[in-house]
Amino acid sequence: MSDHNHHKDHTHGHTHDPVEDGAALRVRALEELVIAKGLVDPAALDSVVEYYERETGPRNGASVVAKAWVDPEFKAWLLKDGTAAIHSMGFKGYQGEHMRVVENTADVHNVIVCTLCSCYPWPVLGLPPAWYKGPAYRSRVVREPRAVLAEFGLTLSQDMKVQVWDSTAEIRFMVLPRRPENTEGLSEAELADMVTRDGMIGTAVV
Ligand code: FE
Repeated sequence: MSDHNHHKDHTHGHTHDPVEDGAALRVRALEELVIAKGLVDPAALDSVVEYYERETGPRNGASVVAKAWVDPEFKAWLLKDGTAAIHSMGFKGYQGEHMRVVENTADVHNVIVCTLCSCYPWPVLGLPPAWYKGPAYRSRVVREPRAVLAEFGLTLSQDMKVQVWDSTAEIRFMVLPRRPENTEGLSEAELADMVTRDGMIGTAVV
């Protein structure tokens, strides 16, 4: 089932609401289990929720980014077949079945959204932040991406092309940020520490 059904929106602007996040997660997890098994097993549901709350998160995506920064072959694979490259690092599962990674360059800045609901690449980024699910971000980032990014503190030059990627029922996007300058001496782990969640959404740069 697509998760492009219209959800009831409970907008809280840019504030973070862990209770709402948890509730949304349970709904998603329930959908998955109902589809997969035709029933809901509370123990299994708890384990799914725990997996996405504790085992996955933006550090997964950060390790993918760092590997791409130090390994040109991996980077080429990641951009060509994001699903396979990410799966090869062990990051797979619900909302990560079909991944596309888009690269920020000196000329293009990418940002991801789901205009219809809140599709998000869980295996690499964990749970979406509340603002990602809010109607303000979802509608405005497509119409006026520069203004929205400026509100996040990211002011892009007029020369920079802004590309907005709208998740579909199938595909989840992740941004490959540009590697910061003067980081040649850093290890892959140190590079991964520099990568932020918002850098992989595209509402920040690294
Ligand atoms: Fe969605």
